[in-house]
Amino acid sequence: MQSRWSDAEAGEFRARYAAWGDALALRVYTSQLIGADPDLVLHGGGNTSLKAKAKDLFGREIDALHVKGSGWDLASIEPPGLPALRLDALLALRALDALSDEDMVAEQRRALLDASAPNPSIETLLHAFLPARFVDHSHADAILALTNQPDGEQRVRALYGDRVAWVPYVMPGFALAKRAAEIFEKNPAVHGLVLEKHGLFTFGDDAKTSYERHVELVARAVAQIESRVEGRRPLDARPVVAMREWNEIAPVVRGALAAATGDPDRPWRRFVLEHRSSDEILHFAAATQGPMLAAAPPITPDHVIRTKGPYLFVERPPYANYESLAAKLREEVLGYRRRYAEYFARCCAARGVVRTMLDPTPRVVVLPGIGLVAAGESRAAARVAADIAEHTVKTKIWATALGQYEGLPELDLFDVEYWGLEQAKLGKAAPLPLAGQVALVTGGAGAIGEGVARELLKAGAQVLLVDLDEERLDATRERLPGAEGFRADVSDEGDVRDAFRRAAELFGGVDVVVVNAGLARTGALADLDLDDFRAAVDVNLTGAFLTLREGLGQLRLQGSGGNVVVVSTKNVFAPGAEFGAYSASKAGSHQLGRVAALEAAAYGVRVNLVNADAVFGPPENPSGLWREVGPARAAARGIEPAQLEEFYRSRNLLHARVTPEHVGRAVLFFARQDTPTTGAVLPVDGGLPEAFPR
Ligand code: ZN
Repeated sequence: MQSRWSDAEAGEFRARYAAWGDALALRVYTSQLIGADPDLVLHGGGNTSLKAKAKDLFGREIDALHVKGSGWDLASIEPPGLPALRLDALLALRALDALSDEDMVAEQRRALLDASAPNPSIETLLHAFLPARFVDHSHADAILALTNQPDGEQRVRALYGDRVAWVPYVMPGFALAKRAAEIFEKNPAVHGLVLEKHGLFTFGDDAKTSYERHVELVARAVAQIESRVEGRRPLDARPVVAMREWNEIAPVVRGALAAATGDPDRPWRRFVLEHRSSDEILHFAAATQGPMLAAAPPITPDHVIRTKGPYLFVERPPYANYESLAAKLREEVLGYRRRYAEYFARCCAARGVVRTMLDPTPRVVVLPGIGLVAAGESRAAARVAADIAEHTVKTKIWATALGQYEGLPELDLFDVEYWGLEQAKLGKAAPLPLAGQVALVTGGAGAIGEGVARELLKAGAQVLLVDLDEERLDATRERLPGAEGFRADVSDEGDVRDAFRRAAELFGGVDVVVVNAGLARTGALADLDLDDFRAAVDVNLTGAFLTLREGLGQLRLQGSGGNVVVVSTKNVFAPGAEFGAYSASKAGSHQLGRVAALEAAAYGVRVNLVNADAVFGPPENPSGLWREVGPARAAARGIEPAQLEEFYRSRNLLHARVTPEHVGRAVLFFARQDTPTTGAVLPVDGGLPEAFPR
C-alpha cells in the first residue's frame, strides 16, 4: 500500500476538469485513486467530499459541500458525481437531538444546489461536521482486520498513538455524524478517525494531504499484519480433496440454492453463481476455523446488503455422489433459510418494528476443496458479492493472524439490512421475467441465434452463445453486450459437453436450452451427394441429439425445472423439393424434441418447438441457410436471389416479413412459462396453410 499520487496525473485532472475548478478536479482525482484500490473500497463503497465556494442562483457566493452521490462509484467518479449542498443548511442540523433517516435524506435533498442531482451519501453529515476541506472515507481491509477484534480500540491506539481518534460503533446516519464530530473536536490534531468495525476517515486542507494520510494509515496496518503473517498460513488447514471440478458440481449447487415459489407457472426463483478459488479462499475453506469465520458477521456493515450476514459453510460435502451431494446441499440451504427467518423475527421483536423479510437464501457458500460461490439475481450482483466475499475472507484471515475476529452484533447488522429507506424501495421494481436464469443458444452467432439471444437478454437472462464460427461469434457478441460466447461443433460429443460445462463455469448451470444450430444442403435425392446428406444429419439431427442429451442431463441434475426450445422449421410439415437432406434431418430433430417433452416433464422441464420460415436476417448478420440455398431457390422460381425475401413475404397469409426477433419472442413465450405447455409447436411463418401443425 503506497501513495499513487502523481503530479503529472493531478495536472491532467486539473486540465480535464478546468471548468469545475482546481479543488473539485483534484477531489475527483484522489477519489478515483481510492476507488481504484479494491483493498480500500469495493463496488460503490466509501465516499469523499470537498468544502468549496459555490454560487447560488443570484450569483451570491456560498459555502458548499461536494459529497459523493449515490449510484456513483469512486473508481469512475466525475464532477457530477459529487453534487454540491449548502453547507450552512447541513451544519444547522447539528443542533437537533435526533433526526430520523427519512428526515435526514429529505433535508439533504433540500440542501442540494441542483435539485436533480443524485441523493447525497448517507454519510454526508459526517463529512459536513468535520471542518477540513477534504475528507476521505474507505472501508480498508487492513483497518477492518484491526478494528474487528474484541480489543480493537487498544490495538488502534497502540498502532497509531494520538494520530487518530477512535469512534465506537454507531450505525451510519445522523447519530454517527454527531458522535464523530464531538470526538474530533476533543482531538483536533488527529489526521483521521477509525470507526469501530466500519472503516477509516482522514482529512486535510488539500487533496494530496488527505489522500496520503489515508494511504499512510492503511499502510501501517498492512505492515503490522504482514509482520504477523510472514508468508505463513494463519489458519489450521485440514487436508481436503474435492475430486470434482467446480463446473461438474455447479448445477447441483445451483439447484440447491433455487427457491421454490409455490407458483405452479413459475415454480423456481433462480440465482446466477460466481465461483472463486484463489489459494487464500481454498486455505480458508479447508481450515478448522473456516466454519466459524464464515458464519461470523461481515467486516463492515453495508456488505450485509450484498452478501447477507453469515456465509453458508458446507462441511464434508459428498462430492463423489451427485444425489447425496444434492440432498446434503438442500438440507444445508433449508437450515440457513430457517436460521435467517429466526434472526429476522428475533431482531424485529427486539427493535419493536414491522418489516418485510428479504429473500432468505444464502448469498455466499463456502465449499471445502472447491472454493466460494456467490449467488445473485444477476451475474453483476453475483460478482459484487463474490468480490466482497474474497476481501472478507482475506480480512478475516488477517484478523485471526492478529488476534481474534469479531464482527458486529446481529441487531446492528439488522438495522443496516432492514434500513427503512431500503425497505421502502422493495417490490417497486418488478424483476425481469428471466432474471436469475441462464440460456444456452446453439448456432448462437447465426441470424436466428442472434435474434433469440437478443430477446432473452432483454428479458433478463444470462446468455451463452455456442457456435462453430469464432469470427461470427465475436461479431455477434459485440452487438449483444453481456452475452458470452463458446466455440463448439454441435456434432462433436466432447464439444457439446464442454459448452454446457462452460455455462456451469460462468453462471452455475442453465435453465433455457435453445437447440438452434442448423445446416442446409440442397439437391434432388437422385443427385444428392452422400457427404452433403451426412453433413446435414450431423448438425441438424446428431447435433440436436447431443444438445438435448447434455442439456437435459444438466437440467435434471440441477433439479429446478427449465425449458428447452427446439428451433424447427415449416419444412417438417411442408417439405420442399430438392431439400431432402435438410427436411429429413430437421424432421428427425423435431421428433426428438417431442420425445424429450415426454421424458423431461418428470423433472419439471418443458420442451417446445418453434417452426420458423423464411428468416433472412438483417444485413449485418444474414442467414447462413439462405446464403446457401437462396440462389438455387431463386433460380427454381425464376427470380433474382435479392427478390427472394419479398417472394416469401407475399406468399404467407399475413404478408409478414419474419425476423430473427420474431423467433426470439416465440422462444421467450415458452421460456416465460406463461401457459402450462409442453410438446407444442408454435409456427412463426406469417401463416402457411400447408404447414399448419397437425
Ligand atoms: Zn462507510
